[in-house]
Amino acid sequence: MKIDRRAALLAACLLAACGTQPPSTPSSPSTPPDLILYNGKIVTVDGEFSIAQAVAIRGDRFVAVGATDALRQSAGSATRQIDLGGRTVIPGLMDGHLHNAGGGPGVDLSRVRSIDELLAAVAARAGNAAPGEAIVSNSDWHEAQLHEKRLPHLKELDRVAPKNPVVLVRGGHEYIINSAAAQRWNITRSTNSPAGGEIGHDADGELNGELVDTARALVHLPPAAPLNASAIERQLHLLNSVGLTSIRIPGSFQFGGDQVAAYRMFQELKRDGRVTMRVNYLMRIFDFSSVDKVKALIASWNIKPDEGDEWLRIGGMKTLVDGGFEGGNMREPYAEPYGRGGKFKGIEVVPRSQYIPVVLELNRLGWRVATHAVGDAAVDEVLDAYEAADRERSIKDRRWTIEHWFIAAPDQFPRARALGIAISAQDHLYLAAPSMAKYWGRSRAARVTPMRTFLDQGFLVAGGTDSPVIPYNPFWSMYHFITRDTISDGVYGANQGISREEALRVYTINNARLTFEDNLKGSIEPGKLADLVVLSADYLTVPEKQIESLKALATMVGGRFVYTDPSMRLQ
Ligand SMILES: [Zn+2]
Repeated sequence: MKIDRRAALLAACLLAACGTQPPSTPSSPSTPPDLILYNGKIVTVDGEFSIAQAVAIRGDRFVAVGATDALRQSAGSATRQIDLGGRTVIPGLMDGHLHNAGGGPGVDLSRVRSIDELLAAVAARAGNAAPGEAIVSNSDWHEAQLHEKRLPHLKELDRVAPKNPVVLVRGGHEYIINSAAAQRWNITRSTNSPAGGEIGHDADGELNGELVDTARALVHLPPAAPLNASAIERQLHLLNSVGLTSIRIPGSFQFGGDQVAAYRMFQELKRDGRVTMRVNYLMRIFDFSSVDKVKALIASWNIKPDEGDEWLRIGGMKTLVDGGFEGGNMREPYAEPYGRGGKFKGIEVVPRSQYIPVVLELNRLGWRVATHAVGDAAVDEVLDAYEAADRERSIKDRRWTIEHWFIAAPDQFPRARALGIAISAQDHLYLAAPSMAKYWGRSRAARVTPMRTFLDQGFLVAGGTDSPVIPYNPFWSMYHFITRDTISDGVYGANQGISREEALRVYTINNARLTFEDNLKGSIEPGKLADLVVLSADYLTVPEKQIESLKALATMVGGRFVYTDPSMRLQ
């Protein structure tokens, strides 16, 4: 048993004057636990990555971790005891970059696997649409999931929906439209691409339907359906069902929705005791055109940096500088023909003349900054801004982050390390490898999200999925980072694989560190919040391929089961 660790943990917490409450001790150490899970394989993810057989819980905390016999002796008459039957338990999983669970009222393309299936889904909706009604898809799909590994073309959409404007929303950076949509919003072959965006053309100069980054603003979608607290609650339950107990929301829960309203709904859920997920919520800046505007916007929110508690906390400010797969800002040109004879290197969505002053101001206002940066040139821009901020007021060890960081250049590592920058990394390559290879060339795609290098360079790396851009299943992510296997295109960059132990840390304790909560959660240790997952098989020993299909049989948050698989009997 490791009761002594608890005292050490408490002392460390008090010494560090952490903003969070020290572990609550509603009763004396001799009070029996409320619950004991025994006869299992408890992967604690403590400093030594030790394995135990049993764990005892009182209130919302772990109170003891150790051998089955020793822990069962501490049971009182009211202690509930659950035989794990040898099953493996891990700390609650955490996603460091998750917008929402996907889905929604648009055309659902998440399960289509070919261009024909995609067109059939659009055709079905067009068949029921009123004349002129816009047909919009959900954003949680990607062409890499399609047999053809390409986007649909404007002309194909015209064939299935000749009269209705069609806008396929693909991830967070691209729309694909048909001719009726181009007509509705006055987009022609001669319309100039706006700064920070791209209107796609065929070789003959005709529109191909693609609108990238700021070019999407040419299209005015019907307002997103109003969100409510119950819809959020349902999404949190979906996330619990794959073992997630904590998420960090990078600035837009609902794409295009009101971020303050969504945050107020999370507060409402928390107040009513309906939140089943710990949420770190980042605010987001969209308009970088003037520092005064940014200041006025932030003042209008009435939200303070780091306000909240272990259920819901404001985690900083999300910003961005470049595009996604089709617009990441690179030092080297894209692969041909996308490189356009060496001239296209991606999109600087926010120029440094606007980005840097905003970052400086956020630092002055006490906000930690998290920046979306995909390409190496984008990361250069971020490092320049963070260094400028650091010269005014130190950002060292305040865990400012780079979100994504697909393509890294070795000269960037010492600069990032000197600033104590943390990395929020996701498994985009798992789904989108063929697209990345198409845009950037196979060898550059194989370098995407270099986890091995990041860890070897000593960075704090927190794992996530970017759901709904990539599906939210954390076991898929861990599988990908361990094997570098992809859904449709085999292994990319095998030399960047990490161990199972590292992957588990990346999806647990490292995320807790990212949000300054490693004293509270991220491992199964006495004194920490009782967040855990009972697994369908042993993560540490199943054949590699089966990591992808691991399931959560039960998910616990704060000592309470928030999800139980029908096959799991909690006797
Ligand atoms: Zn994102």
